Amino acid sequence: MMKQENQQNIVIIGAGPAGSYTARRLAMLGIKTDVYEEHKEIGMPSHCAGHISIHSLKKLGYYPLPNGIIENTFNAANFYSPSGVKFSIHLKKPITCALNRTKFDQYITDQAKQAGATFHVDSTVKSLQIENNYVKGVNLQDNTAVPSKITIDAEGISSRLLRQAKLGGLDKNGLVYAVETEIDQVHDVEPHAVEVYMGSSAPGFYAWLIPRPDGTAKLGLATNKGNPQNYLKNLMTKHPIAKKQVKSAKIITTNYHAIPLSGPINKAYTNGFLAVGDVASQVKPTTGGGVIFGLTCGDIAADVAKTALTLDDVSAKTLSTYQKRCDTALNFDVTFMLRLRHFLNSLSDERWNSVLHFCNRFGVGKALSEVEEIDYQGRMIMHVATKPAMITALGYFGLLYLFANP
Ligand SMILES: Cc1cc2nc3c(=O)[nH]c(=O)nc-3n(C[C@H](O)[C@H](O)[C@H](O)COP(=O)(O)OP(=O)(O)OC[C@H]3O[C@@H](n4cnc5c(N)ncnc54)[C@H](O)[C@@H]3O)c2cc1C
Repeated sequence: MMKQENQQNIVIIGAGPAGSYTARRLAMLGIKTDVYEEHKEIGMPSHCAGHISIHSLKKLGYYPLPNGIIENTFNAANFYSPSGVKFSIHLKKPITCALNRTKFDQYITDQAKQAGATFHVDSTVKSLQIENNYVKGVNLQDNTAVPSKITIDAEGISSRLLRQAKLGGLDKNGLVYAVETEIDQVHDVEPHAVEVYMGSSAPGFYAWLIPRPDGTAKLGLATNKGNPQNYLKNLMTKHPIAKKQVKSAKIITTNYHAIPLSGPINKAYTNGFLAVGDVASQVKPTTGGGVIFGLTCGDIAADVAKTALTLDDVSAKTLSTYQKRCDTALNFDVTFMLRLRHFLNSLSDERWNSVLHFCNRFGVGKALSEVEEIDYQGRMIMHVATKPAMITALGYFGLLYLFANP
């Protein structure tokens, strides 16, 4: 079965935030856009903590949001070593929020539909159609062939179609494996603070607890060593602080998913094809946050695709502008964050105790109290680097980094 060919159409694979947002931008530019999503319901199942910077949401036009999408806002974070040493940052105003990811994804999809994009749910893309080295469309699971002038891959970490486009896959060594749960109650937490557990509580990443005003919370972690479920059990029963906070909590739902931390792939385009979001590893290597980077690159993808259609030239050469613009938008911060991730991973539990003691002693929390931006962390550090506490801290961390990476 062959659908009617429309030479100016675009097909998007996946209705996660990156795919739906790109669809919205394309539809707003007047381009016929079809999105294929394998699940029956957009945003389900949700695997994400939905912890997002308010500043970045505002820049993308997503703050404030309709009722029910924002579950809480945060002006504080408490960091704990595995033995319970605590370091807190209290900010002058809320700078992050927790989103209900299912509702957020559905909201973006609704906006994209209003702009004119068409969504096909319960429609799995089985493979790419490739002719003369050009991606010419997709084949669906039911063997429908859907032609497209440009195909945008927003399939998330599975990266199966990315490999078919011969753009490699995601760097397996850079993946951390996450467990995300909903719990029914928490104790001894500040209502507007995110709790973060470092070191061997979740080797290679960290664990988090994100409370809601109704006393429920999201609790999760990711690790590059072993089964995340075992670390979660240890956190809930053995961590000196976390075990008290979740002492009578029941787990309501559990989801597993991986997070790519290696930084964006080197080539996210080929003839007739662009990759956006997690599939292109457009994710912060420090926190694993991918929503803002995915949307930011989705915006660029729509713009570059529009130009390519106008020129009637969807060659890799023309589409390479996408890579250049994404690199300009992200690379400075990603390079910094990759080094920071490497440094954080190198710290032993004892060293975590000293680092958090150091931060308390030298007033690092106060020096960071006016921070508003947490997505572009390289620029954020440059912004606060001249404060005396930060000069001392950067010197101390620099030395630790050098000793960890001789
Ligand atoms: C535990 C956990 C916590 C996280 N917490 C945060 C956080 O607090 N803040 C943050 O910013 N980020 C967070 N992230 C990362 C964030 O979830 C991702 O970066 C984001 O969802 C990526 O969006 P995406 O659209 O690229 O991919 P996805 O959201 O994965 O969407 C991809 C979509 O494509 C569909 N699909 C895949 N293959 C096909 C196919 N062949 N055919 C049709 N459809 C297909 C999938 O069903 C899915 O709906 C977290 C991730 C995890 C695992």
